[in-house]
Amino acid sequence: MKRNFVVAILASLHCLAGHAQTDERKQIAFDIIERNAAQLALVGDSLYYFGELGMQEVESTKFLKETLEGIGFKVEMGGAGFPTNLWAQWGSGKPHIVIVTEIDALPEGSQTPGSIERKPLVKGAPGHMEGHNTHGAVAVGAAYAVKRVMELYGLPGTVTLSFGPAEEQLVSRPFLVRAGLFKEADAALIIHIGDNFSTGYGLQNYAAISARFTFHGKTAHGAVNPWEGRDAVDAVELMSMGFDKLREHLRPSQRAHRTITIGGIQPNIIPDLGQIWWFVRDANAPWAKENFDKLINIGRGAALMTGTTMEMEIIASAWPQLGNRVLAEAIQKNIELVGNPVWSAEEDKFAKEFQTALGLKPVGLNASPVKFGARPQSFASNDSGDVTWNVPTGNLNFPASVPGVNYHNWQAAVTPTSSIAHKGAVAGAKALAASVLDLLTSPALLAKAKEQFQQDTRDTPYFSFLPEDAKPPLDLNREMMERFRPEMRKHYLDKTPSFN
Ligand SMILES: [Zn+2]
Repeated sequence: MKRNFVVAILASLHCLAGHAQTDERKQIAFDIIERNAAQLALVGDSLYYFGELGMQEVESTKFLKETLEGIGFKVEMGGAGFPTNLWAQWGSGKPHIVIVTEIDALPEGSQTPGSIERKPLVKGAPGHMEGHNTHGAVAVGAAYAVKRVMELYGLPGTVTLSFGPAEEQLVSRPFLVRAGLFKEADAALIIHIGDNFSTGYGLQNYAAISARFTFHGKTAHGAVNPWEGRDAVDAVELMSMGFDKLREHLRPSQRAHRTITIGGIQPNIIPDLGQIWWFVRDANAPWAKENFDKLINIGRGAALMTGTTMEMEIIASAWPQLGNRVLAEAIQKNIELVGNPVWSAEEDKFAKEFQTALGLKPVGLNASPVKFGARPQSFASNDSGDVTWNVPTGNLNFPASVPGVNYHNWQAAVTPTSSIAHKGAVAGAKALAASVLDLLTSPALLAKAKEQFQQDTRDTPYFSFLPEDAKPPLDLNREMMERFRPEMRKHYLDKTPSFN
């Protein structure tokens, strides 16, 4: 009671300080999110136990569709030819703000929540070892609060939630962009779990093209008539060596890595089939494309040298995320308004124990948001980058994991349903809701963000890495998911969130 009274006084002081209505709207959104904290946690936890791999987010999107319809959103599945693409909308007309995120898990990420020891829930099964499950909690929580505030104040505009399939394999966003899903959007906000509360601007990560090269030759006996064979694995090797010779003449920013996916059967059979899978990256999209075109030529050369033929298939691609500085400034203000979650002594103690167990310095949890400024460009990639070159986009990282625990590692699956993740999701939802409200209510902010976008993209107009005939890889991860889902189903929470 006493606490509420203090909050009320603080809220009214805020009003006196100016931006009275904006702050009042944001405060109402914060109260709604706080009041529904348990529902946010339930959304994130439910997604955790589905633990579905990219393209196979069937249960996860079914659950989100029902949850979002339950709070009044209109949900469309199947956009751009992806059965698990979820596009949820509320409101009408302009401005149109899109929240962009994903919910896919990773192979072999199954882990018992809270256990610092390796203890899979289902042995060998996929699981959330990055925490994409918390993205659902943040996006749905913010969307609900924004919708309520829009109703209360009669605010015009459209809020969309885009859950894109298979982010972990950089699959869907180039297709969603190509299908025109973001054409009507005025701005987008990308959310991602982090171990700190932050935003950024400029190039946030790397461009990437993932492609498989398959060589076809002619089989023969390795000793009896090798001169009659045409060795497809020789072509694979020559392609790998050829690219290594090229590396010296590429920009120092390049990254390229490969794995041989078909490498022959046994030494005395000249293989008629060989395959090599490449990831080619660079600091921007035109450079990545340039490197990739050179790689294709090396493949052609390898085929020529070995008398084999080559087929190339682009599996996935991503532009680097372009963070809009104007939007980042607005997001930062909201991060500071919300403030870092207040961690309990137990939460911090757990984080320190976890860090010690991993041989890390026991620094505990981050206590305050990251100061605004340029952050170094990361070498990883995220296919939501394609969205950012088509719509002015801000990005928001919310503090919901333990510093030092690397993603794509089973250890990162220990905490995505913990109170640390729950508190981080609440903070993230508040900052996101406040940022959406800014964009809905300030035409000046939106205009400035668009101006920044024009400037940032003037010299690098967007082009798609996708070949014209590229189709969504519908079978990606299907076999693995179908194998594990029956066992995983036993852990489903089977509860329906109810927001109020
Ligand atoms: Zn991610």
